Amino acid sequence: MKKIGLIATGGTIAGVQAPDMQTYTAGIVPIGALLSGLHFEGAEICPMQLANIDSCDMGVDLWFALVRAIDAALADMDGIVITHGTDTLEESAFLLQLLVATHKPIVLTGANRPSNALGADGLRNLHNALCVACSDNAHGVLVTMNDSIFAPDCYKATTLGADCFAAHNGALGYVQQGAVHFLRTESRKLPHFAARSPEGFARVEILLSYAHNGLGAILGALKEDGVRGVVVAGSGAGNVHFALKQALASHTHGLTIVCASRVARAFVAPAMLQAPQWIAAGYLSPFAARILLALLLGGGATHDAIAQAFALFGD
Ligand code: ASP
Repeated sequence: MKKIGLIATGGTIAGVQAPDMQTYTAGIVPIGALLSGLHFEGAEICPMQLANIDSCDMGVDLWFALVRAIDAALADMDGIVITHGTDTLEESAFLLQLLVATHKPIVLTGANRPSNALGADGLRNLHNALCVACSDNAHGVLVTMNDSIFAPDCYKATTLGADCFAAHNGALGYVQQGAVHFLRTESRKLPHFAARSPEGFARVEILLSYAHNGLGAILGALKEDGVRGVVVAGSGAGNVHFALKQALASHTHGLTIVCASRVARAFVAPAMLQAPQWIAAGYLSPFAARILLALLLGGGATHDAIAQAFALFGD
């Protein structure tokens, strides 16, 4: 029988709704209590409560604690399931695929509804994640939500209902009545990082472009605060309001600038860049681009090496 490590970090899957159903708090129910409501005989499950937070509060210390927990678990587990809040699940999934190089499945899941809500989706998603982690066809970092299996570059598409995750290229597969079906696999070559502590993750922030933009005023303060990179979430295919563009142009020294799009399904091509030193994020979301840039800068990558790494997501 396979052994699956189950690392719990919190989220709405461990959330509890108030009796009036108006509010709820994420990250309350311990993983042992969640598991007691689930019937799964397909594997030996080894649970571990790493944290119990609302994932809107995810931070770099917990990220690296998660990476180290995964490293340790991979030594004797056949696969890993991670329960996570859906707010930043896509960020953690993207980070993990850059840091953990393994053929074994690492499956993230969460829930859009608290554990005691009517029609709660958590146990179903957890069951599906365990099924995926046990599948011989599942490899590397995956996400399962709403009966679908996604590559890490998926995103939370709605806060309404249980059908909450989507992906640029659609799902990789589905879980139906406990059966795991893959339609395709991800073949993209990814950069890999050996960082195992927060020092490997440089300060990078995201600036949003929108009409009548005044965000350029904070650039000096960001640099003084130790920010080394900025991802601009441009409008459309990477367009940036002229005021923000001008401010960025006067702060180029010591700041690496990557241009992504604020549109959920977008592609920013190098040809669309509005300044010669900027780097195009390709199909990466601003959140994924920020993680990639932070790891590259944290690892001491040159401007050329950063451009090459981003080019992998622009083919
Ligand atoms: N705020 C929650 C969290 O990310 C939302 C969720 O899990 O759906 O922890």
